[in-house]
Amino acid sequence: MDSASKQPGTDVRIKLMKAAAVLMVCLSLLGLVLLQERASSEAQARKNPTAQAFEKAPETWLANPKEASEFERAVSAKEVTAVAVDGIHVLYTTRQGGHFSTRLIDCGLGCKNDLASHLGSLSVTNGFALTSIDIDARTASQKATQALDKVAGVLASLLPIGLIIGAFVYFQTRGSMGNRTKLAEKPDTQFKDVIGAEEAKKALRRVAAFMKDPEQYAAVGARAPRGVLLEGPPGTGKTLLAKALAGECRASFISVDGSYFSSMFYGAGISKVKELFTRARAAAPCIIFIDEIDGIGKRSSGKDAHGGEQEQNRIINRLLVEMDGFSALENVVVIGATNHIENLDEAMCRPGRFDLSVRTALPTAPEREALFSLYLGNVKADKGIDVASIARTAMGMSPADIANCVNRAAAYAAEAGESSVSQERVYQSLETHQLGGEVSATKSIITPETLRRIAFHESGHALVAHVLNAGIVERVSIEPRGPALGVTYVARHNEEPLHGEQELLSRLAMMLAGREAELIAFGNASSGAADDLKRASELATSMIGSYGFGKTFGLLSMAGVPRELIGPDVQKSLLDEARQLLENAQVECRRVLEEKRDRLTSLAELLLGQETVSGVRLKRVLSGAGDEELALVA
Ligand code: ADP
Repeated sequence: MDSASKQPGTDVRIKLMKAAAVLMVCLSLLGLVLLQERASSEAQARKNPTAQAFEKAPETWLANPKEASEFERAVSAKEVTAVAVDGIHVLYTTRQGGHFSTRLIDCGLGCKNDLASHLGSLSVTNGFALTSIDIDARTASQKATQALDKVAGVLASLLPIGLIIGAFVYFQTRGSMGNRTKLAEKPDTQFKDVIGAEEAKKALRRVAAFMKDPEQYAAVGARAPRGVLLEGPPGTGKTLLAKALAGECRASFISVDGSYFSSMFYGAGISKVKELFTRARAAAPCIIFIDEIDGIGKRSSGKDAHGGEQEQNRIINRLLVEMDGFSALENVVVIGATNHIENLDEAMCRPGRFDLSVRTALPTAPEREALFSLYLGNVKADKGIDVASIARTAMGMSPADIANCVNRAAAYAAEAGESSVSQERVYQSLETHQLGGEVSATKSIITPETLRRIAFHESGHALVAHVLNAGIVERVSIEPRGPALGVTYVARHNEEPLHGEQELLSRLAMMLAGREAELIAFGNASSGAADDLKRASELATSMIGSYGFGKTFGLLSMAGVPRELIGPDVQKSLLDEARQLLENAQVECRRVLEEKRDRLTSLAELLLGQETVSGVRLKRVLSGAGDEELALVA
């Protein structure tokens, strides 16, 4: 256990609260007992001496039971000096000093001859003292049982109070208890474990230099960094970077998230903030990592804020006060991670708080390649996997997605009873991620004719993309996944942000090629091209209306012209021109497909046999390799 896990102040507070709760329960019990005592002594004081004498030790009489007839005889013989009645129990003392008891016989409802109703007159005529008493006629063990019942009754009546007190103590101390699980750890992660994110690493290296040697910076009056905001999409390594910073500086690492501070109890959130910083100072050098920091929210203006909002304001204020309170040598740095920097309270981004903001971005193709290599290295993978091709296909995936993808590929391999992860399994896993699902149930209802149509459709996309150089055709599959019946992966040659006109025209032709291939092979098209046509129409209208490739708009961009100035005539000519662009692309596409029809058919047949074609085999068939050559790579 490191020093950060010991918080004497916190422990003493929890113990005090527990002791207070126990004391309250004990005091309530004591109060109840004293009240009962007082009530019975008051009642006792109002009784006559004869009754008091009988009630003091009724066992003396009860220990000598007699028949009712014997009692009646003694009364008639005037041998009785005192009689005490409690319901059907009668205790009596004789002139000889005997102490006896009996039970009166109930002779029934309305009975006039029972002894009980005559005792009053008999006491006068036969000269004995008569009194009523209130005794417990049960045996000692019966009484013990009753005492236990009483205690249970008292406890039951105190249970609700106990529960309320217990709940109060639990929720008040929960923040502190919760913190026990938020112990500072000492991560081993280093910056070299974080692939890419160079900009973020550069900024964090400066922070690391401060943390490693705060005295050096303090000596020249340099202000220590207080907070760093890491902004970027989920899974881009924000947590990993923060851990790497801690690892590099051998600092402690405490991780919480924005919602950690919110509490249903007034004031508990603020004490959580205080405790977090106390803990961090005790564990310094220390990194406090607050994930989803935007979850803390923004402050609302003082007069409009009520209830929860006021509490939220106080939490944010406390956080700012704690950060302002760092001294140059304190060596605690707060790292906040968010995907929505716009939701952060402005005051948090001011100098002296989160004064450094760093963006993490999705990885580039070489970074994805390095990530795949890293994660494939962690599982048992086949040798010779084309990691570069996989990385090109994985465009738009975050490092976390890539880690997940490799993990899922390993699971697929295990489920299939394979001893290592093949390239095909990685591709399958990629498809599951990108197309949003496993192989869909549609597969079982697809007829051979439809499958043939899908094979030609996908082969059309692949062939035109290859011939018109729209990108690198990585893989073609006719296995339905998610909403897609088939898929052709075409990766861009590079990921530079600009797209040339020729590249866009080639992409247009590629998008239309599925439908065109269906027309060539079957003489008619199907609804399977709906999504292709939608995307092609979007691209064509953007090319004319926004990218400056058309005559109607020329250099004007639709996005920059007020809507009211775009009349029906302008809209019509824009759509006419976009349509012309699509038709030109269609002509180009048909030319390619008719010219290379043999390749189209070869690929479609190959797909019908194998479902998926990729790698060298795909390249060969797209480049028009003969059957013998293809057989060699089979
Ligand atoms: P974020 O905090 O941005 O949501 P994480 O840091 O939690 O992302 O990343 C989740 C997982 O993804 C990490 O545990 C790690 O396995 C992997 N990962 C993320 N970024 C990288 C990276 N740059 N290099 C290597 N692995 C990464």
